[in-house]
Order: sequence, then C-alpha cells, then structure tokens
Amino acid sequence: MREKMTVRAEYTEAKRKKEQLVVEEMIRLYCRKHHGEYDRKTGRMCPACRQLSDYAKLRSEKCPFMEQKTFCSCCRVHCYQPEMREKIRQVMRFSGPRMLLYHPALALWHVACSVREKRKQRERMGKTG
Ligand SMILES: [Zn+2]
Repeated sequence: MREKMTVRAEYTEAKRKKEQLVVEEMIRLYCRKHHGEYDRKTGRMCPACRQLSDYAKLRSEKCPFMEQKTFCSCCRVHCYQPEMREKIRQVMRFSGPRMLLYHPALALWHVACSVREKRKQRERMGKTG
C-alpha cells in the first residue's frame, strides 16, 4: 500500500516536471518568433515571457489536480488569472502545432494526454448525467 502510494507520487511528480518543461518550451518558441528581446545565443526569453513561464510553473507547482489531470491548458479548473490565461492561450495556439516540428516526442505526449483527458471527461459526464 505504502509502496503503491510512493510510485503514484513519483509518477505525479514526473508528470508535473514534464508539463513544466513542455510549457516552458512552448513559451520559448513563441517568444523566439514574436519578441525581439529573445536572446538566440542563450535562449533567454524576454521579461514578459519569463514572467509568464514562472507563473505557469508556479501554477503547476500548486496544482492539486495533477494526479487526475493532464495539462493546465485542458484542465477544467482554470486557476490562471484571466490575463495570464489569455497569454498562455495565445502561446498554445501558436506553439502547439509547431511543437511537432521542434519537439516531436513532447508534442505527441501532449496530444496523447489531451485525448485521454477528453475521453475521461466524456466518461465522467456520461456517468453523472
Ligand atoms: Zn517574449
């Protein structure tokens, strides 16, 4: 029992780390294509994108649903501030499809997770009504 819980917690942590990585890469990609302040040499994002990235990381860190959910982007409980949510939406819209080119493995994992999450949501809705 104890062992099972540890494995689960580790899995959740791994998922959290992976989500943070994907989101950061997406923001970096967006910044690289949109903002002149992006530093190509060091891969440093502009201040606004760094802020968004930190914010996304913090939300993920504090997310109490990490075990059940997949991504903050498709989470039903939107804990993002409206302003940040709008920003992250723009980033996802732009970088989502492009992730396939730059980070195919991460992108596929993201898609697989999203599909699974949507199916789960449908099942849940079917059960309750
Ligand atoms: Zn930027």
